[in-house]
Amino acid sequence: MFETELIHPPQIEDKFQSLNPAIYPSAVFLFKNMEELIDFVSSKNKNRFEYSRYGNPTNRNLELLIAHLEKTEDAYVVSSGMSACTLPILTFLQSGDHIIFSSDMYLKTRNFIEKTIKKFNIQSTVVFPKKEEILNAIQPNTKMVFIEFPTNPFYYVIDLKPLSEELKKHNILLVVDSTLSSPYNCNPIEFGADLVVHSLTKYFSGQNDLIAGAIAGSKNYIEKIREFNGELGAILPAEISYKIYRSSKTLAIRMQYHNETTLEIADYLYNHPKIKKVYYPMHPSHPDYSIAKKYLKGGGCLLTIELDGNFEALKTFCNSCNIFRIGPSFASAESLLDPPIVMSHWDVPEVERKKMNIFENTLRISVGLENKNDLIKDLEQALNKI
Ligand code: PLP
Repeated sequence: MFETELIHPPQIEDKFQSLNPAIYPSAVFLFKNMEELIDFVSSKNKNRFEYSRYGNPTNRNLELLIAHLEKTEDAYVVSSGMSACTLPILTFLQSGDHIIFSSDMYLKTRNFIEKTIKKFNIQSTVVFPKKEEILNAIQPNTKMVFIEFPTNPFYYVIDLKPLSEELKKHNILLVVDSTLSSPYNCNPIEFGADLVVHSLTKYFSGQNDLIAGAIAGSKNYIEKIREFNGELGAILPAEISYKIYRSSKTLAIRMQYHNETTLEIADYLYNHPKIKKVYYPMHPSHPDYSIAKKYLKGGGCLLTIELDGNFEALKTFCNSCNIFRIGPSFASAESLLDPPIVMSHWDVPEVERKKMNIFENTLRISVGLENKNDLIKDLEQALNKI
């Protein structure tokens, strides 16, 4: 079971039989003599380390853990969730290729696909996060589909299995940013995804004290990404790797708590007269509820609401909360409020913003690990002020 797998993953052999993996803060790994060096460079099976930009034993233990939890062959840890998202695109796409991505998505990833990679002559098409819309957007030069699972910040859940089956027929790589699921709630590779990416900053860390990312998939794909990043250099320091490894041990119990508490809070808000809309994938009111139930063990810590009011109401509500505080990111112990109109979409022109469903009364809420009744009381008193 996941809880047990999490605590007993495969690890690199340690001659001292240390219970916890060692931290190797070393850029360089030495060779005893010239023969050992020649052996290393001439062998394809590189079972040791040379230089930490190419790999580090502390990082390797975290990679083995992530590959194990995602039920795939290999994984690779990198400097941020953004490098985890951008590396597969940079590694596998060439000038003249086409990529499809979904309209609901972390804005920085969207900007990278829609704007930044245009300068490498890679074209893109944005579609609503639905299997049919994605398939209808395929062109002869489409090489990759990039989606979030569920999407952020409205938690649409794409029917992954039939999508991946169709994409395989066209030789199109399916890359799934599964940050919002975490391997506790879903393993997209089991449903045909080729690569899964994570912002480890979120559930894996759970502490809001670091930034990191990971990519998981077959050995062949991961090796190519590792080689590419050997030149790019978006690597993760060993000390940070160990912090993530340490925090991961509580991933399952944190996820259980997030799933249960957030669903109850979503239901409380759904029934509140001052709330116009609630988006939570495992709430029966969500448009993708039936697909979500098929793929997800739980809905995670994020929900999004539309308050019954204007920007003033949003300001009053955010300013009145005491336990929930205003800040980006999610999945930490502390509950956070993210008003996207200000936090992430301030510079997005109004017409574009409205197309993304971001209004002046939209608020993303990250439910932390505080007591559920205290959280509901905090929301109640703040709603009474608007
Ligand atoms: N993917 C998703 C779904 C995210 O929400 C984020 C950040 O919020 C990222 C990727 C980027 O991760 P990081 O902040 O670790 O670079």
